[in-house]
Amino acid sequence: MKKILSLLLCLTVLTLFSGCANDKETTSNNTENTNELKIVTSFYPIYIETINITKGIDGVVVENMTKPQTGCLHDYQMTPADMKKLENANIFIANGAGMESFLEDIINNQKQLHVIDSSANIPLLIDEHGENPHVWVSISNCITQVETITEELSKIDPNHADQYHKNAEDYIARLKDLQNEMHAAIDPLPNKKIVTFHEAFPYFAEEFNLDIVGVIEREPGTAPTPTELTDIISQVKNLPTKALFAEPQYSSTAAEAIANETGAKIYTLDPVVTGKDDPDAYIKAMQENAKTLQEALK
Ligand SMILES: [Zn+2]
Repeated sequence: MKKILSLLLCLTVLTLFSGCANDKETTSNNTENTNELKIVTSFYPIYIETINITKGIDGVVVENMTKPQTGCLHDYQMTPADMKKLENANIFIANGAGMESFLEDIINNQKQLHVIDSSANIPLLIDEHGENPHVWVSISNCITQVETITEELSKIDPNHADQYHKNAEDYIARLKDLQNEMHAAIDPLPNKKIVTFHEAFPYFAEEFNLDIVGVIEREPGTAPTPTELTDIISQVKNLPTKALFAEPQYSSTAAEAIANETGAKIYTLDPVVTGKDDPDAYIKAMQENAKTLQEALK
């Protein structure tokens, strides 16, 4: 009996001891978790891509540098708050292709920061104003950006590489479904000529065989000149289906003036540069765009 008791005591002590050892391990894991990997994205579409890739991964935090309603970063000046976010970050993910004019400064001034150029593997469209940075508006390019971000994140943070790849695979499968769904909606439309609001849609148009015959304001906030306005009005008058595509982010004063002159109807196409903190926001906005085109170009 005495032997059994001492054996039991022994076992209890062993269990307590190993319990202690386990506690220590857990504590050291927790310490690792406070050393989070901090990722900062430049603006909304890159933020949405990144939160899909990092979904449900402990110890990886994603923050968007600019406010969700900022829109495109053409001529954007970084604020002290933006710089503060970058000071505490490990990784900065940019759209690239000239969208972030401040990118060179970041690379030169913050040597400790890993910078990912998500459009590095995308052939860029070039017009008389230079390279067009609105690559994510095409679903194929959005998929390429997700792949590039995933590969680069996996190199910088190999411990989570499997999870990044698994998440990316899931998201890309959904993006491919979206692409098929949109081709089914847009391909049969009889009229493919569109007039858009700023230079956000060439990659989207290329993907869905749309023909952009006019752009109302080349850059947001730059009103068309009287000559440009006259040109656009005559282009719209020649359209088989008189539809203008404004964007939710920008005022549609110019679009309204053209609509009054031509009797064209104004619709909204969303380049997904603003929106909610929702991983599905890109997919939902693109589904709306497909519905709008179906309605406008039938
Ligand atoms: Zn833009």
